Amino acid sequence: MTVSREALMAAARTAAEQAYAPYSNFAVGAALAFADGSVVSGANVENVSYGLSLCAETVAAGKAMNEGRRGGLVAVAVSGPVTHAITPCGRCRQVLAELAVLDGSDPLVWCDGPEGVREFRLSQLLPEAFSGL
Ligand SMILES: [Zn+2]
Repeated sequence: MTVSREALMAAARTAAEQAYAPYSNFAVGAALAFADGSVVSGANVENVSYGLSLCAETVAAGKAMNEGRRGGLVAVAVSGPVTHAITPCGRCRQVLAELAVLDGSDPLVWCDGPEGVREFRLSQLLPEAFSGL
């Protein structure tokens, strides 16, 4: 792996600073590390129609796919308010799985929290992920 856990988590924390979260005041950042060493980050984007809001992981995954990435995801870092342990929501787990299923990878997922960073594999967070491929 080319990006350390610390560096990727720092990228997620920095990304959270760009969150648009005027309704929840719950800024979250996500950073995705790829096998080529690149990192794509995103932050949550809320909408006055709450159901239209996008999570940080979904924003980052969408950016990565729009930049042409189709797999190669090796790690994900997610960070939010320092008082909260963060894990990707169910929807984001499936969104991230789309990048993993394309090449059969099982990326690490590092989740920030007040008691430190927890490490999972995406398959732990979303066992038996739906795959239409
Ligand atoms: Zn989510």
